[in-house]
Amino acid sequence: MPKARMVKCPECGDEFGLEDYLEIGDTCFCVSCDTELKITKLDPPQVEVVQPLDDESDFDEEGDEDIEEF
Ligand SMILES: [Zn+2]
Repeated sequence: MPKARMVKCPECGDEFGLEDYLEIGDTCFCVSCDTELKITKLDPPQVEVVQPLDDESDFDEEGDEDIEEF
């Protein structure tokens, strides 16, 4: 039985085990703070915080869309 690959969350510092199927480049979520983390190394396991993409997410929500016809 393979040993759990423990990583330390860079965000909150908690340790948790990576799922067996995860590989470098995959993402997972910290069990404690729910931060999205990307696996950058496996031996030893290492993760980094996935920075939220900066596109479209900071648009104002008050666009003048005409879809409230009903
Ligand atoms: Zn965390």
